[in-house]
Amino acid sequence: MYRRIVIKLGTSVLTGGTPHFDQAHMVELARQCAHLVKQGKEIILCSSGAIAAGRERLNFPSLPPTITSKQLLAAVGQSRLMLLWERFFEIYAIHVGQILLTRSDVQDRRRFLNARDTVQALLEHGIVPIFNENDAVATEEIKVGDNDNLSALVAILAEADLLLLLTDQPGLFTADPRVNPNAQLIPEVQTIDETLRALAGGSVSGLGVGGMATKLQAADAARRAGTDVIIAAGQAPDVILRAAGGEPIGTRFPALETPLENRKRWIYAGPKANGRLFVDAGAERALLANGRSLLPAGITQIEGVFQRGDTVSIRNAAGKELARGITRYGSDELRRIAGRHSDLIAAELGYTYGPAAVHRNDMIVVGSG
Ligand code: GLU
Repeated sequence: MYRRIVIKLGTSVLTGGTPHFDQAHMVELARQCAHLVKQGKEIILCSSGAIAAGRERLNFPSLPPTITSKQLLAAVGQSRLMLLWERFFEIYAIHVGQILLTRSDVQDRRRFLNARDTVQALLEHGIVPIFNENDAVATEEIKVGDNDNLSALVAILAEADLLLLLTDQPGLFTADPRVNPNAQLIPEVQTIDETLRALAGGSVSGLGVGGMATKLQAADAARRAGTDVIIAAGQAPDVILRAAGGEPIGTRFPALETPLENRKRWIYAGPKANGRLFVDAGAERALLANGRSLLPAGITQIEGVFQRGDTVSIRNAAGKELARGITRYGSDELRRIAGRHSDLIAAELGYTYGPAAVHRNDMIVVGSG
């Protein structure tokens, strides 16, 4: 049913929640992937576990609780992790290729397209790309930070039709199943709303970085880009084969009907918003209901320092994000023209980049659906 699948494997899936890697289970996951590759499907992994692998390889050293220690562990562990995957896929005569990313690698559109071409080339040669964050060198500011969001970015970049988030839970529940015996698995989510976010808010699994909250963010991003998303248990028998075949398993988030066009996918996946533009009710309506560009006249407040060409988050008075887009004016310029009619831009600045602060073609609406 699905052809190009990104599979996110959380640390807890690879270790079974212990300090050690469950190599037998990794072989089992590789077997399922290999089966699909042999059927002509394209499999991309996003594997966590670098830091855990570093710890295991160095025999659980006592290190100071610093970022440098984590980076040391990631440097050792990433090669260990790849060694394991390389070995396990070799059993099935499949090659793997490592791609390490940080957010800054995809912020620049050229590098984003370049990464996309590499994935495409690997897949064309039947090689399984294995992504992780480049933890050994990434600083907090340039990190994606968790592999749920990283895997969504990969799914968007690779234009995957399924993002399978494997974790230690069977999916999303109506309540925390560890404390509430009446919690029910939610088989399908059509709308990601505040109630659902609140449900996911508190649950963080043992070893990994992400919890259900980051999974929900990832699911939201990927489905907006046209990718179906499934959250399921990595330990469930044949989970990858079943999900890939379209069997009901875990919690499924169907892709929104109108996927984003390419350039807009990048706006969603790549750049971090450097600033915030708060808009009035008229502008909110124009953006959400009428599909218009954002004009300076509708902007009430500007936060942050940014340049023309940077990504900004567009919010209503209550602070809710409505849209994200590339601004045609820098923050200093916008502070001068906010609230004014576009005909006055040239008079105020002495030049103009056009009537829109954020043009419709450079914007994705996130405030509805
Ligand atoms: N990149 C981290 C690692 O490999 C994992 C981050 C995550 O699990 O979200 O150790």
